Amino acid sequence: MARYTGPVCRLCRRENMKLFLKGDRCYTDKCAVERRNYAPGQHGQGRVKVSDYGTQLREKQRVKRTYGLLEKQFRAYFDKADRMKGVTGENLLVLLERRLDSVLYRLGFANSRSEARMMLRQGHFHVNGRKVNIPSFLVRPGDVIELREKSRKMARINESLDSVMRRGLPSWVELDREAFKGVLKTLPVREEMTTPVFQEQLIVELYSK
Ligand code: SF4
Repeated sequence: MARYTGPVCRLCRRENMKLFLKGDRCYTDKCAVERRNYAPGQHGQGRVKVSDYGTQLREKQRVKRTYGLLEKQFRAYFDKADRMKGVTGENLLVLLERRLDSVLYRLGFANSRSEARMMLRQGHFHVNGRKVNIPSFLVRPGDVIELREKSRKMARINESLDSVMRRGLPSWVELDREAFKGVLKTLPVREEMTTPVFQEQLIVELYSK
């Protein structure tokens, strides 16, 4: 299946949840979920009885869409999480947060994960001093991510960094704003991953059928 290229706010409305796909706008009253909290389309406001399967499927779609993945990629992360020690659902979320595009977004180098992916492919970033342009690169605790010298004047990146500094960073990353450098301090723990809040156990149930 091809990657979705339509309006991202429509995805949030479909999932009836803020997925935070548009940077600053998501924190204002211009957010489409705040304005029209019902599914898009002709029947969006109709009442629909949702089965257990439907609920599990929606939760999977929410997580998949938040991280901007295709079904096959998402399933591969789930399988990997399932083979790891610990709770599968939590492992899954931690793996997704460790993706380089996600870490860049959390550090504020990009307004969204999709913007982070685009910037990565353009070669703006180094990890531990080496150029990395693969969005799925898994960052390890202690890895240092740096914006290359000649990209540091880009207005879009500076605006995004300033707004994440205002909003506050998640506890598992640290940013040196002046040096355009960030680090993944530790792996995130479940209680800290709160934007958005997922019920990842539903995904485990869905894939365990
Ligand atoms: Fe759009 Fe962000 Fe609101 Fe989602 S959370 S509807 S992406 S503004």
